[in-house]
Amino acid sequence: MVATTQQDTGVDGGVGATALLVAAARAIETHRPDSLAQDDFAEHFVRAAPASAGWPTRLQDVPDGDANPLWGRFARYFGLRTRVLDDFVLQAVHSAGARQVVLLGAGLDTRAFRLDWPTGSVVHEVDRAEVLAFKHEVLSAAAPTAKAARVPVPVDLRADWATALADSGFDSAAPSVWLAEGLLFYLPADAETSLIATVDRLSTPGSALAYEVKLEPDLMTYRDSPLYLATTQQIGIDLLDLFAKEPRPDSAGTLADTGWATSVHTPFEFTHRHGRGPLPEPNDALAGNRWVFAYKP
Ligand code: SAM
Repeated sequence: MVATTQQDTGVDGGVGATALLVAAARAIETHRPDSLAQDDFAEHFVRAAPASAGWPTRLQDVPDGDANPLWGRFARYFGLRTRVLDDFVLQAVHSAGARQVVLLGAGLDTRAFRLDWPTGSVVHEVDRAEVLAFKHEVLSAAAPTAKAARVPVPVDLRADWATALADSGFDSAAPSVWLAEGLLFYLPADAETSLIATVDRLSTPGSALAYEVKLEPDLMTYRDSPLYLATTQQIGIDLLDLFAKEPRPDSAGTLADTGWATSVHTPFEFTHRHGRGPLPEPNDALAGNRWVFAYKP
């Protein structure tokens, strides 16, 4: 049963619009002189959608530049996240030999085009139909060449997405790499529990999963943070309104109990590793963000 609180309005509103927010952040990151990740397609999505056509895609178009909580610090967070998960997925396919990748809540992720995939790789992009339709339209106009076979899987992740994935050619007898980037906090807790159990069920030994969670006990603690206020005021996206507010499951603990090797990281660890990215600050909406890496031995 699909809960009704999320409407599929594509990228024009609701949770779908958050895909445009991340695309704009990746466009800005791409044009930074000290860029952590390159995505030449991100700008196309931002310009194509009425909701985001006027948003900046370069930091020099932002009057207060890096001091802007949304297009400075928050965009840099997305740039860092993109880089870290690029590295995770490439390491997983190259060293573990997995050839199928599943992007859960793929949004406007263009890894199928951007990354150097081993021959025979398949990228399954799971998101809601309207978001994937917009993505298809923009990519058709730009006509880039994918570096892996790319399979859109239009389905709601609160419903029976495993059947849709199997129908798209996913082989649960072969190792796989999974990403849930910027997704789980929009889903009800029971949908996260079910998603993690499904990933486990569909993953052979040698598979890998990375996902992002927010661990603060009360999301509303940071409702007056510069990051949430700027996102609401500058582009009309109230992230706290979109997040599921109920207590979150301990997905990393569940995976560890089922035999996965897990590690939980703050984004700030990677800021130090790369020498750039967001650092902690007072009243920080990123304080509870964690990136979890899991490997099935
Ligand atoms: N992973 C992408 C990235 O990092 O660029 C997109 C992240 S965006 C913040 C969140 C994405 O999750 C959106 O594309 C949205 O449509 C998708 N999403 C949210 N709830 C979903 C659901 N119930 N079923 C499928 N996709 C969903």
